[in-house]
Amino acid sequence: MRAFTAVFVVFLVAGCQSVETTKGGTVGVDRQQRMAVSSEEVNAGAQKAYAQMMAEAQKKNALDRDAAQVARVKNIVSRLVPQTTTFRDDATKWPWEVHVVSIDDVNAWCMPHGKMAVYTGLIQKLNVTDDELAAVMGHEIAHALREHSREQVSQQAITQTGIGIVGAIFGVGQLGQGVANAVADVTLFKPKSRGMETEADRIGVELAARAGYDPRAAVGLWQKMAKVGGGQPPQWLSTHPSHESRIADLQAYAERVMPLYQAAKSGGAAAGR
Ligand SMILES: [Zn+2]
Repeated sequence: MRAFTAVFVVFLVAGCQSVETTKGGTVGVDRQQRMAVSSEEVNAGAQKAYAQMMAEAQKKNALDRDAAQVARVKNIVSRLVPQTTTFRDDATKWPWEVHVVSIDDVNAWCMPHGKMAVYTGLIQKLNVTDDELAAVMGHEIAHALREHSREQVSQQAITQTGIGIVGAIFGVGQLGQGVANAVADVTLFKPKSRGMETEADRIGVELAARAGYDPRAAVGLWQKMAKVGGGQPPQWLSTHPSHESRIADLQAYAERVMPLYQAAKSGGAAAGR
């Protein structure tokens, strides 16, 4: 997987624009984002990188090996995805996909346009409950809804405009591979800003609550993660929000979305919004 580190990245830099990728929801995430690369380009890159990575996993006999595990993960995702309409009108139409990959790392991710993976290391080492798995996947889905990878790629593109112009002499095929590598690289390996992590935490608990998963499970989950963090901390722990402030924020926001969880559990319409 480390082979995806981009060495030479080529972008079609289409000028900078400020966008708001999501609606606020109950948790009220609200921040203008600077984008220099189109969603279409980034999503195509994600699609390509994801297909390559899953083919590679298949070749190593590391793809979806445990049918019960896969069914469990798919079921959770299928409950979370309909809740994305709270934040974006287009997201339920995305080509959502999730696979369980046999890798020992405690990790999960969602690439742009809903291409997800959960590693067996996360499921086994943390012995996750369904509520906890929903917390992880809700967090990762939130990164995709907020188009954080596109934002990160945009930041790279802005600083590499010279390379982009030179790179334009290459054919479309090569261009596509460069973007695919860059999207995979930022999604899997590049730390996200503190602000991005906080946004994903808050949107994540709301997605979980609306899907009928106890949002308070996020708190215990991150505490478990901190314990196994050890030598190779997962991406979401390697970035800024200090552990204590993150836990405090999660507790506050889990509390805020509890009525949504209770409404989902009782089968009624979601309270408030
Ligand atoms: Zn994250």
